[in-house]
Amino acid sequence: MNAPKVGFVSLGCPKALVDSERILTQLRTEGYEISSSYDNADVVVVNTCGFIDSAKAESLDAIGEAIKENGRVIVTGCLGVNADEIRELHPQVLTVTGPQAYEAVVGAVHEHAPYQATHDPFINLVPPQGIKLTPRHYAYVKISEGCNHRCTFCIIPSLRGDLVSRKADEVMNEAERLVTAGVKELLIVSQDTSAYGVDLKYPLGFWKGRPVKTRLLELAEALGELGVWVRLHYVYPYPSVDKVIPLMAQGKILPYLDIPFQHASPRVLKAMKRPAHAENTLERIRAWKEICPELVIRSTFIVGFPGETEEDFQILLDFLEEAQLDRVGCFQYSPVDGATANEIADPVPDEIKQERWDRFMAVQAKISAAKLQAKIGSVIDVIIDEVVEEGAVGRSKADAPEIDGQVFIDNATHLQPGMIVKAKVVDADEYDLWADLVD
Ligand code: SF4
Repeated sequence: MNAPKVGFVSLGCPKALVDSERILTQLRTEGYEISSSYDNADVVVVNTCGFIDSAKAESLDAIGEAIKENGRVIVTGCLGVNADEIRELHPQVLTVTGPQAYEAVVGAVHEHAPYQATHDPFINLVPPQGIKLTPRHYAYVKISEGCNHRCTFCIIPSLRGDLVSRKADEVMNEAERLVTAGVKELLIVSQDTSAYGVDLKYPLGFWKGRPVKTRLLELAEALGELGVWVRLHYVYPYPSVDKVIPLMAQGKILPYLDIPFQHASPRVLKAMKRPAHAENTLERIRAWKEICPELVIRSTFIVGFPGETEEDFQILLDFLEEAQLDRVGCFQYSPVDGATANEIADPVPDEIKQERWDRFMAVQAKISAAKLQAKIGSVIDVIIDEVVEEGAVGRSKADAPEIDGQVFIDNATHLQPGMIVKAKVVDADEYDLWADLVD
């Protein structure tokens, strides 16, 4: 019997991508084949995102497309918690499961595309690092699931539950397998990286015969020994993070922090119930930069949160000017079904949201452009992501894949993805850099 083919559509954030990789790895281990087109697949799995309305709409469209093109569809992921809504719109779906329901998804594939593996178990179908959906040279490593916070605009805790950390030895074994397989950059993701291990009470794991505590500092130290770029995402400005900054100054992990601040007005942060909302963030950033001057901070913000006044917004703009963040994304608040923020009085009218967003972006664009201009003439490390006709395209230590800027090195077509090269910055705009190779 030929192995059934499974089509896969993966939507949503890096955490959902890691879920997809885990499901695919399991199916491949069992002998299933992965199909790259709808018409060849015996069944299609759609891993959905349900975070904001636009993501929900995209997921529902993707389900519709898979039904139209193939007809045999299993739905999983964050939108899966709204099974009734999905079934109402797409009654033909075979099964709906929620986020992190790996066994249920694989079980649904067994049911709808049964396969008794006849492959030789000694022929390894899956590389030791598992199936990865990212290019070979970088990989996301998810260190925990869920979240203990209850931000009022977010439904992730109700979708994914409270924080559940993976033990440090498990994370380190995965990271080591990835590095052995050629990965040059590890992107550490979770919903709250700074809280890593708190749910388990920071137990010891054993890696390479020595204890490693299940806590951010110790994990970062151990990851720093792997000799690849290590980038931390979704960190909150808690005092515990202070201890990680010296590792960045020593070059053990990348001098990069992805901190979703979301706002700066204490009143709005409190209404959002943001983690670390009572911390003096500017003071903390200043202290971090003293320890590690090359530290790059990327962040996201929400404008137009219910009850946000012009004064709150001005506090946010002042914060931007003071904090001089390197990379910033900004969203206009949009209500998410089931979020408690929907009950907060005084929604901000759409035209004011738009006007604040425009003002916010104008301030940040100037800051970003000035920061990138200041890099002209400096020599930086660049990891190559792809090589095109005109040259190589890569990223500096300050740029995470997909969300930050790029570095273009004209004519360097002899380079290969995954190489880390030195280049001299010759030009810049608001987002990207242009550089020449340095011998
Ligand atoms: S920290 Fe807040 S926004 Fe992030 S996942 Fe937890 S509840 Fe949601």
